[in-house]
Amino acid sequence: MHAADPSSPPVFRFAPSPNGQLHLGHALSAILNHDMAKAVGGRFLLRIEDIDVTRCTPEFEQAVYDDLTWLGLDWESPVRRQSEHIAHYQSALDGLIEMGLAYPAFMTRGEVKAAVAKAEADGTAWPRDPDGAPLYPTDDRHVSETERQTRITSGARHAWRLDMAKAISIASDGLSWNEEGDGEKGVITADVSAWGDVVLWRSDAPSSYHLSVVLDDALQRVTHVVRGLDLFQSTAVHRLLQRLLDLPEPRYHHHRLILGADGRKLSKSEGSTGLATLREEGASPSDIRRLVGIGAG
Ligand code: GLU
Repeated sequence: MHAADPSSPPVFRFAPSPNGQLHLGHALSAILNHDMAKAVGGRFLLRIEDIDVTRCTPEFEQAVYDDLTWLGLDWESPVRRQSEHIAHYQSALDGLIEMGLAYPAFMTRGEVKAAVAKAEADGTAWPRDPDGAPLYPTDDRHVSETERQTRITSGARHAWRLDMAKAISIASDGLSWNEEGDGEKGVITADVSAWGDVVLWRSDAPSSYHLSVVLDDALQRVTHVVRGLDLFQSTAVHRLLQRLLDLPEPRYHHHRLILGADGRKLSKSEGSTGLATLREEGASPSDIRRLVGIGAG
């Protein structure tokens, strides 16, 4: 049902969040997507993942356009900005709620921390997700519908989370993806249980990365997801959501990460590898290609 249409060109996308300056890691991602698309006569899209309005700013968004233009990349217009499509993500969330797969999660970060600390003090190791965050306690899965409505109506702050046990029971059979990147390759089994009840809709910002990314990749008919190896494990969640929401499966290529002098993944606050900083210091676009280990485009 979801086989790629052989008559349509492959579609690649670079999808930064404008919450900081782009650095060399972003340059590698953007250039790879651009060059891979050109090499196969495909399309290259830019998507602005700005749902978190508390951290994303118009200045950082403008800097994305400036940096990519300077690098010599060209992308299709109009650019999809996630903040303009909240209703689209909301209707998918509503569908998952109707299917009984999403529940309101009322525990605050502090309450989760306290529950974890208490269990660990009692000698129970609390499970962590692949990013190292403690899994959300499963208590809220069992709150009655009446109690949920009462709490929501009285204004209780809540997120929406996926009931991973239910999701696994209906959609995890043989779940996998096709990996063509720089790490493990081939058919990768999607280990979704490691993530626990992931957030679908945040209490402080609409939608979540996981929900909006799979919806947009489908809507924009992205055939090749090329992004950093830091998102490799998240792909399990994306495959699960694709199956639950009946969305097509793209191919995945998780590329090597550019590490800082301390051997850790670059962060947006590290000015020294920021593209704007390197440009101001006199670097050229071909210097950037060389620094990230890619030849001329
Ligand atoms: N917006 C995500 C980020 O900036 C990337 C999303 C993706 O490529 O799937 O880390």
